[in-house]
Amino acid sequence: MATVPISLEFFPPKTPEGVEKLRAVRQQLYALKPEFCSVTYGAGGSTRTGTFDAVQEILNEGVDAASHFSCIGATRASVREQLQQLQDMGVKRLVALRGDLPSGHGTGGEFLYASDLVAFIRAETGDAFHIEVAGYPEMHPQAKNPQADLQALKAKVDAGANGIITQYFFNADAYFRFVDEAQRAGIQVPIVPGIMPITSSSQLIRFSDACGAEIPRWLRLRLLELGDDVEGIKAFGLEVVGRLCQRLLQGGVPSLHFYTMNQSQQVVFLANQLN
Ligand code: FAD
Repeated sequence: MATVPISLEFFPPKTPEGVEKLRAVRQQLYALKPEFCSVTYGAGGSTRTGTFDAVQEILNEGVDAASHFSCIGATRASVREQLQQLQDMGVKRLVALRGDLPSGHGTGGEFLYASDLVAFIRAETGDAFHIEVAGYPEMHPQAKNPQADLQALKAKVDAGANGIITQYFFNADAYFRFVDEAQRAGIQVPIVPGIMPITSSSQLIRFSDACGAEIPRWLRLRLLELGDDVEGIKAFGLEVVGRLCQRLLQGGVPSLHFYTMNQSQQVVFLANQLN
């Protein structure tokens, strides 16, 4: 089976203990030689300092780092200022997103969609950044229909995105179909599957319901059956996600992007299993 590059995603910790723990987790994960590590960005800029600090630490550790960057609620002036800050830090990669604000909050910003953000970044900074955008093999929950969502994805690529990282999924066919349809629509950039390790059923079910990722019935039932058996859930999760990764590799994916949830154990195990 072919081996492919991997990338790793972290979120900015909220406490000094979390920052310390993430440093240790990163050191364990660097053994996997990731192509880059990315750090998420809270909607409305809520985690800006934590995100940029973590990105700077990763760069200082000698690893390529991508800052996620969401535009909901942002103004052109605030985005311009942050792009300058990121360039001054030496950042060369962005994951450009619209983001979500808690329901009830208006956007109040000058960007409607991620495609507007990508176009703005290109207009302001030319080719200074390699830009990834988000793709949804099982459709973004707010899209009118899959075709409209595909057109929204194409708009992001046409605006200048270099690559796509997908929302996680547990059905490999959804990914392969999505790639076929994207290519037929003229999207030629790499589409990297996002991989979510399974470590807790309640967290996974909550996340998935919110972001529109489907947990197949057989998987949901099995997780519910395992209840509070944390070790059982982890072992079962490794088997399920390991098989998913194998199918993706056999299908010729360009790379794998792991949502680490700031933990190393499952990702190290999965990556080693896949060699
Ligand atoms: P868009 O591409 O703007 O799409 C949003 C919705 O609008 C879609 O339903 C789309 O179909 C529709 N749409 C787009 N353009 C048009 C148009 N012209 N007309 C009509 N409809 C349109 N969130 C964070 O807050 N921080 C993060 O760090 C973060 N990282 C992520 C990383 C990855 C890899 C992924 C997959 C998601 C991430 N998210 C993050 C979540 C993301 O912000 C949400 O899914 C958000 O709801 C959509 O963001 P987007 O960039 O895909 O938006």
